[in-house]
Amino acid sequence: MEVPAENLIGEEGTGFANLMQTLSVNRIFCAAQAVGIAQGALEIAMNHARERVQFGNTIAHLTPIQFMIADMATAVEASRLLTRKAAQLVDEHDKKAVVFGGMAKTFASDTAMQVTTDAVQVLGGSGYMKENNVERMMRDAKLTQIYTGTNQITRMVTGRALLFQ
Ligand SMILES: Cc1cc2nc3c(=O)[nH]c(=O)nc-3n(C[C@H](O)[C@H](O)[C@H](O)COP(=O)(O)OP(=O)(O)OC[C@H]3O[C@@H](n4cnc5c(N)ncnc54)[C@H](O)[C@@H]3O)c2cc1C
Repeated sequence: MEVPAENLIGEEGTGFANLMQTLSVNRIFCAAQAVGIAQGALEIAMNHARERVQFGNTIAHLTPIQFMIADMATAVEASRLLTRKAAQLVDEHDKKAVVFGGMAKTFASDTAMQVTTDAVQVLGGSGYMKENNVERMMRDAKLTQIYTGTNQITRMVTGRALLFQ
C-alpha cells in the first residue's frame, strides 16, 4: 500500500523500531486487562463462597476454599503492582519499561488464567454455566496469554533483554 509522505509517522526507516515500541506499551494495556479480568473473577468467587451453603455452613468456612482465595488474591495483587511498575517506567521514559512491560504481561495473563480457572472451581458446577460469567472470564483470560505477543514470545523477549542488553 502506498502512503503519502505527509502521513509518515516518526522517522523514515524507523518503522519496525516504532512498531516494537508500541507493542511494549500495548503489553502493559494487556496486563491491565488481565488484572481486571482476574479481579472480577476473584470477587465473584468470594461472593459465591460467602453465600453457597454445603454441609450446614458456607463454603467460605472450608480451608481448601480459603487457601484458593488467598492464592488468587495474592497473585492478583502481585500482577497489579508489576503492571503499575511497568506503566510508571513508561511514564518516566525509562528503557527498562520494555522488560517490565513483558514481565507484567506474562505474569498478569498467566495469573488471570489461573485465577479464572480457580474461580470456576470455587463455583463448582455453576461456574461452568454461562450465567455466572466466570466461564467467559476464563476464555477472556486465555486471550491475554495470546495477543500482543504470545507468552512464549514475551518470555523469550524478556529473557534475551535480561541476558544480552
Ligand atoms: C481475539 C484476538 C484478538 C487479537 N487482536 C489483535 C490485535 O488487535 N492486533 C494484532 O496485531 N493482533 C491481534 N491478534 C493476533 C495475535 O497477536 C496472534 O494470534 C498472536 O500473536 C499469535 O500469532 P498466531 O495466531 O499466528 O500464532 P502462531 O504464531 O502460529 O503461534 C502458535 C504457537 O506457536 C508459538 N510460537 C510461534 N512462534 C514462536 C517462536 N518463534 N518461538 C516460540 N514459540 C513460538 C506461539 O507462542 C503459539 O503457542 C488477536 C488474536 C486474537 C485471538
